[in-house]
Amino acid sequence: MITMKFGGTSVGDVPRLEEVVSIVKQFLKEQPVVVASAMGGLTNVLLETAQNAVQRKTELVQNTIQAMRDRHHHIALRMITDEARRSKLIQDQITSFEDLTQLYNGVSMLRELSSRSLDAIASFGELLSCRQIAAVFEENGIPAQFVDARTMIRTDDHYLEANVDFAYSNNAIAATLLPLIEKGIVPVVTGFVAGTEEGITTTLGRSGSDYTASIIGAALHCKEIWIWTDVDGVMTADPRIVPSAKVVSELTYKEAAEMSYFGAKVIHPKTMTPAIEKNIPIRIKNTFNPSHAGTVISHKASGENIPVKSVTSIDDLSIVEIEGNGMIGVPGISARIFSALAHKEINVMMISQASSEHNVCFIVPRKESQKALKALRAEFEFDMARKTIDDIIVTDNVSIVATVGEGMIGTKGIAGKTFTAVAGANVNIIAIAQGSSELNISFVVQQAEAKKAVLAVHNAFHQ
Ligand code: ADP
Ligand code: ASP
Ligand code: MG
Repeated sequence: MITMKFGGTSVGDVPRLEEVVSIVKQFLKEQPVVVASAMGGLTNVLLETAQNAVQRKTELVQNTIQAMRDRHHHIALRMITDEARRSKLIQDQITSFEDLTQLYNGVSMLRELSSRSLDAIASFGELLSCRQIAAVFEENGIPAQFVDARTMIRTDDHYLEANVDFAYSNNAIAATLLPLIEKGIVPVVTGFVAGTEEGITTTLGRSGSDYTASIIGAALHCKEIWIWTDVDGVMTADPRIVPSAKVVSELTYKEAAEMSYFGAKVIHPKTMTPAIEKNIPIRIKNTFNPSHAGTVISHKASGENIPVKSVTSIDDLSIVEIEGNGMIGVPGISARIFSALAHKEINVMMISQASSEHNVCFIVPRKESQKALKALRAEFEFDMARKTIDDIIVTDNVSIVATVGEGMIGTKGIAGKTFTAVAGANVNIIAIAQGSSELNISFVVQQAEAKKAVLAVHNAFHQ
């Protein structure tokens, strides 16, 4: 068995869907389980429309629903000729859009948009996409069945990025999918969406369909997990920033997790976790160029003797600095900082402390920076009055740039080469952090200079 996940661009129009059919046909003997995303861009449109609904931009909401419906009807009309199959698919689409319209109306009436509602709204993308893919497969002679992942993947109610209950989900996945696979049917499973014990819709976080594929691949002990996307594999940098970036043929799970955590959007960071446990290789492949071998992610990456496999960046971050001479040698300051932030569920992406202990700084997503500032002001109110802490400063619009590669471990001169390249590009470094794993070196720059820094570091390691 192989789990094959097709991303948004791979299922976003007629020619792409024709390519998916041809790929799945080619690998039918491998007993593929298909996981798919919403049609390219649709999740963004669904979520933006929710914001418009809450602002009661009624006409815009209606027009957008119409456009989304047309996009799906178009696939049904163009790709399904069998009368019964086509009218069933179109009827399912009509019902889905009626339900979605009701959700948007509810949001408008109440002028309230909760995380729970956002998940319910976002789930329509994958539900619509996978129903239509199953119909397209059947139309092309591939026995297929639509599977709603909400019935198998159980999570807690941490909406927008729910946590999976693996004990329940692994059994449910096997119980639902194995009987289909044994009958030679290709399950077409919705990526991204899941459900709570009470049957409330949740999602696994943006780009979470990769994670769905890995959860399913691991639950079924698949031979491999394939992530089909729109590039030849994981590259030495984001090809949109560095046009000369090259495909990396092998990566370790650790490298892939680190790279994706630090901004390589090509794979969701959580994807590696279920695969590591069962030792299942993950392969990244291109639907636009299926014969390319792509990138294999596994326990061992051999061959390429390059210390820095990839240079990545994440934008839209803020740096928070806490300063004060009174902090020096006082135990427990860091513990108080990070527990105050954890209490508010603020995700700290990187920490840096000068050895003088006079300044602690850390990075958070920009959208959480004011919440962080408020939490810290409350925690350190007394210390600020006493001047143990002088100031808490937030600077928005910074980026983290990271170099990742296991070959960096124990290799001298990587940091020197990295920072010389950044200085050569005339980019100022605001803060630096290197984890003790030495798997990555990350540093903070102004967002406006991040691309320049990525290019310079990439050129230093990959001419
Ligand atoms: P999908 O819809 O298939 O999930 P995504 O848009 O989520 O696709 O991810 C693929 C995109 O990730 C590529 O088109 C590329 O622009 C971007 N990307 C960013 N960093 C990298 C990288 N290091 N290697 C490859 N692609 C990257
Ligand atoms: N459709 C979802 C998103 O855009 C999940 C995914 O594509 O992986 O975030
Ligand atoms: Mg993706």
